[in-house]
Parts: sequence; structure tokens; C-alpha cells
Amino acid sequence: MVSDKEILDWFNKQYPEYAGNLELAKLLWKNKFGQQKKEYTKMKARNIESSVDEFVELEGMVAQIRENTYLACPKCGASLKKGCEHLDAGEEPIEKYIYELKLGDDTGVATALIISKDPVFVELGDRILVRGKVTKRFSEYLERDEIKISVYSYEIIEKAGDISPPSSDDVNLVKASDVVKDENGEDPRVKQILAMVKNGKKTKAFIERVLKYRGMEWKDIEKFVEVYKEKDIEYVRVVE
Ligand SMILES: [Zn+2]
Repeated sequence: MVSDKEILDWFNKQYPEYAGNLELAKLLWKNKFGQQKKEYTKMKARNIESSVDEFVELEGMVAQIRENTYLACPKCGASLKKGCEHLDAGEEPIEKYIYELKLGDDTGVATALIISKDPVFVELGDRILVRGKVTKRFSEYLERDEIKISVYSYEIIEKAGDISPPSSDDVNLVKASDVVKDENGEDPRVKQILAMVKNGKKTKAFIERVLKYRGMEWKDIEKFVEVYKEKDIEYVRVVE
């Protein structure tokens, strides 16, 4: 920790005309250097579970990505489902992106949650560094506590590039560039996208991004879905 005296000495040199105003000096120090001074403890994946409420840094490889969007208050970030005073007062919700990553190192696997106003271009196999706070929340879905890193910042250290399975014959992987048709002559990725649409309310914009990400186009799914509007936002549903 930096002492008040050190801050004041620094401030007095920078701003001799305001010398002695400790309150002003501390405020500037905190806002200018406070964020960077936040200490993140470098951790291995297996230690995340036992580090609830700590600020941690974890470097690892991304082995699972779940992406979704939800509508949230642009002022305080509360979800539309949860609600807040701004939304009650008529604030228009914005779409937010949520990514749940499973990443690991030589010791284990941890879960990291990135919430962002913009899409995050992280892919399977990427090496990533995340910094954030370890949080514990009860999942009603899983009926148990879930421990995750709520990510404040991240860096993709190395893109995965092309990862090939050990032998393309006995590994059932679908690559965008090499689509395997199933027995009905259909692209199995279409089924995955339709399952995603059925799984929860999805905007058209989101589905278009998922299509692009997987090397697909709108025309690949258009005969299976319909677009509808709510409050000027276009959503997609599966035609039954
Ligand atoms: Zn709000």
C-alpha cells in the first residue's frame, strides 16, 4: 500500500499550486492508478474452487464455449428478467452477450463468465488469460452451488489456429469447411442451431452471428424458422 505521505509528496510535486490538499491527491491517485493497482493472484485451475471472493488471474486453454444473449438495462446492467428502477421507468433494454467458458491448465478445469456489450471472438483451443473475481452462486438449474470467475478483463494469448483430430475417421468433429451430411443428407450444424433457437429466446442478430461464426448462411436455416418482432427487435423461432 502507498502511504498518504507518499501520495501527498507525489501530488505536491505535480501540482505545487494545490500542495497539501490530501483529499484531492488521494482522489486523483485512486482514480488514476487505483484500477491498475488491483492485485490479481495468479492461480492454477484446480485452486479456483477454493478461492471464492478472491481476485484471480488464470491462464488456460478454452475447451468449451456456451454463448447466449439476454436483454439488460443499459444503465445498471440488470437483466430484463430481474428488472430495475430504470427499466420500470421505461428505459429501453439492450442486448448483452454472455459467454461461459471452460478453461483449464495442467491441474484442472475452471469456469469463467464473460459478459460483454460486444461479441467476444474466442474459439475452442485458444489460449486465454482471464482476470476477475471468483463468485459462488446457487444454480437452480443444477440445484447446487456453481463457482465461476466473473471476468473483468481477458487477453487471448494465442489463437488456436487449425486443430486437427488425431484421425479424421474415428473422431466425429464437424468443421465449417468440411461439412459431413447425415443420413438424411442434412447438415448436422442446422440441427444444432435449431436446438439453440428452441432452447431460449434468441434475436435474429444473434443467430446471424452464430451462423457466420460457423461458416453458415441465413439461407441454410430459413426454411425451418420464422422471424417475429417484439418492440422493434427481431427474434427467431422454429417452425413446428
Ligand atoms: Zn437499471
